[in-house]
Formats: sequence, structure tokens, C-alpha cells
Amino acid sequence: MMFRIGHGYDVHALGEGLRLVLGGVEIPHIKGCIAHSDGDVLIHAICDAILGAAALGDIGKHFPDTSAEFKGIDSRVLLRRVVALVEQKGYKISNIDSTIAMQRPKLRPHIDSMREQIALCVGLSVESVSVKATTTEHLGFEGEELGVSATAVVLIYKE
Ligand code: MG
Repeated sequence: MMFRIGHGYDVHALGEGLRLVLGGVEIPHIKGCIAHSDGDVLIHAICDAILGAAALGDIGKHFPDTSAEFKGIDSRVLLRRVVALVEQKGYKISNIDSTIAMQRPKLRPHIDSMREQIALCVGLSVESVSVKATTTEHLGFEGEELGVSATAVVLIYKE
């Protein structure tokens, strides 16, 4: 069995009156992510972790934000495509762990829905998908509510 690990990190700026979509779940809030896609910072970090595990580059390489094809795209579509790319290389995904850093709103009520959405896209059980959330104690761009960041770690394997 060959194991590989991947790490992903993404940041989006927040703007007033925009949709806030995290982990495929729309969350009611006064601000949302400024982005070419739907701005799902969590799914973008997970995509980069999966691509990184297989050394296949990053989502900017596969889905350029200059392309009209990806304007406003549901990031779950990108995640499904990324999973297909690593599966083509003979890998399966073992599990995902991730963290969103955001000061407001409270994300806990939405965490299980995010896990379900991600698990559906990736073809894993919900038990294999971890989503955590933290504030940054009002420090930095997340704490000042200027932006949101997400990190993810993914284990993939080939038998
Ligand atoms: Mg992004």
C-alpha cells in the first residue's frame, strides 16, 4: 500500500451582500467571499490538498480564474473533477481533515451539513470527513472580518 499526504490552504476576501458558501453549504450572513467561483474557500483548500497529495499542481492550474467556464461555478463541481483526476492516477482518498478560520458567524450549526456535502462529492463516509472551525480571537484578517481562510489535509493511497 502506498500512502501520500497533501496539504491545502486558501483565502478569500469578504464583501458585503455576497453569498457565503462554505463546504457546499450556503450560510446566512451579511458578508460573503469575493471570488471568480462561488468562493467556497473550504472546498478550494480541500481540492488543493487532494491535488497536492498526488503532486498534480493546484486548482489555479486546473481551473484558471481567468476562464469564463468557471465563473460563479459551484465548487463542488471542481471537487468532483479533482477527485476524478487523482482516481485516474490510481489513488483512493482515505480521509480529509480541515479547518476554517472565520470570526463570524458561528459555523458549528453548519458543520455536519458541510461534512455531508464534501463526503458526497468525494465518495467517502461522513466519518472520514472532518471539518473544524475556529475564530482567530479578533486577530488578523479573519479576526477583523476582512477575509476567511481554510486549511485541509488529505491522505490518499494506492493498493
Ligand atoms: Mg479560492
